[in-house]
Amino acid sequence: MGTIAENLARIQERIQNRALKVGRKPEDITLVAVSKTVEISRIKEAIDAGVTTLGENYVQEAREKISQLGQEVSWHMIGHLQTNKVKYVVPQFSMIQSVDSLRLAQEISKRALKLGKSIDVLIQVNISGEETKSGVNPEELLPLLEKIAPLKGIKVKGLMTMPPFFSDPERARPYFRKLWQLREKTLPSLPDSISLTHLSMGMSGDFEVAIEEGATMVRIGTAIFGERK
Ligand SMILES: *Cc1c(COP(=O)(O)O)cnc(C)c1O
Repeated sequence: MGTIAENLARIQERIQNRALKVGRKPEDITLVAVSKTVEISRIKEAIDAGVTTLGENYVQEAREKISQLGQEVSWHMIGHLQTNKVKYVVPQFSMIQSVDSLRLAQEISKRALKLGKSIDVLIQVNISGEETKSGVNPEELLPLLEKIAPLKGIKVKGLMTMPPFFSDPERARPYFRKLWQLREKTLPSLPDSISLTHLSMGMSGDFEVAIEEGATMVRIGTAIFGERK
């Protein structure tokens, strides 16, 4: 592990190389630096080195960081979100990547409307069907999108998934491919107000495979900040 700036440069280079290798534009892939459990000074280092989007999992922890670091970067909620915490998330985050129920979407809509804002979200899909994972089952996706479509103040921009952990990233490939295929299958029936432009998939160990399979957002923590305590 090098410094945060070195790690970041290396990751950006790998994103770029892999995108070009499969004929994609590197600028179509957003790096979300995952800063859960990382202390403020190290997050500052990453921002100084060029990070523009930060991903956080825990609401209370994120609120403290945002109050110190402010809105010069975009904050994405990537962790499981309870309905009663939505009121803290909507004002400060630019995207919620972990929407997995109508109830949650309704609460986000309500809170956003109160603030006169609109917030972008992704729908988290449980592609692997593991019971411990959050996310809607693939067959629940379209019915959920149809119910979210009329809600104001919330804009669905794509899908997010988290495959099981494998030490060999090739084993994650079928899950990334399934998310792509689910998007393709859903597109013809998509309600007007919804777009599925974004696929958020790929983490430190498997983001290059995810890029090959069409990721537009990769969520990377350990490879930038080092192992979490
Ligand atoms: C922690 C986390 C990541 C980052 O994982 P790394 O392996 O450290 O890159 C990505 N996505 C989600 C949803 C996470 O909780």
